[in-house]
Amino acid sequence: MTNTFLQGPILKGQRALVTGGGTGIGAGIARALGAAGASVVVNYRRSQQEAQRVVNDIRTSGGEAIAIQADVSKQDEAEAMFTAMYDQYGSIDILINNAGIQWDEAFLDMSLEQWHKVLDVNLTAQFICAQLAAREFVRRGVTPDLSVSAGKIICISSVHETIPWAGHVNYAASKGGLMMFMKTIAQELAHLKVRVNGIAPGAIRTRINRAAWETPEAEAELLKLIPYERIGEPADIGRAAVWLASDASEYVTGETLYIDGGMTLYPGFREGG
Ligand code: NAP
Repeated sequence: MTNTFLQGPILKGQRALVTGGGTGIGAGIARALGAAGASVVVNYRRSQQEAQRVVNDIRTSGGEAIAIQADVSKQDEAEAMFTAMYDQYGSIDILINNAGIQWDEAFLDMSLEQWHKVLDVNLTAQFICAQLAAREFVRRGVTPDLSVSAGKIICISSVHETIPWAGHVNYAASKGGLMMFMKTIAQELAHLKVRVNGIAPGAIRTRINRAAWETPEAEAELLKLIPYERIGEPADIGRAAVWLASDASEYVTGETLYIDGGMTLYPGFREGG
């Protein structure tokens, strides 16, 4: 599906960093930001070829992008990534905090390592990157030719910031924590003209949830949870990220945008209750 809304270089001249931008939702967002005129840093940890493919696609379409390797849950690696970005593009206007993992286990069997690892990537890495970006936004201030805001941060959360998820307590806790992280720094930074928002995807067709859609039986089960009756695609998230990163959403901060085909509408109540 093409970008039929917000077409054109709505982010022209702005510099965006997408963590975990080589695959899935991050790749969809990176492509959408590139198509909207932003210069895009595609961060990856292991998926170098995938990240380079996203960079090549953006460039082939007339955009600008580079790939930078970093484990964003490690402060020194994240700092080096921001430094490399500033060397290339001078500054940052948009941070997409997207990198995330699942390491599922029944609560009774979950190890402390599983708990810490998921919290480190899904929550602490968002703290590290948001702080680095926000310091640069505040140092530089508003650049009126680019945007009315000094900077924009978008935290990729999940419907599981509100829907409890048995067997995934580390993931659900990380996303619930992320919601309050996002709202709190949005409150704290608004007077500095920094906007912070969240996107909570429902079921998007990526490798993280392959088991939930790769067989017809699994897909049929999943669709029972989605009133709109289709699985989401990374481009669905990409279009929303462009809007949230642009001045078209200038007065929006501290909000979670659920992009889930109605998954959070208690679909079990369509016929019951
Ligand atoms: P994905 O394709 O597995 O993407 C996850 C990305 O995170 C990968 O590109 C991975 O890069 C990167 N990553 C993981 N750990 C990292 C680290 N320490 N440092 C840097 N990058 C790291 O799955 P996805 O579905 O697109 O997930 C993206 C985000 O959306 C996650 O935050 C996820 O929780 C969220 N989400 C997804 C869904 C869904 O249905 N798909 C629903 C709700 C929320 P490498 O491969 O290089 O390690």
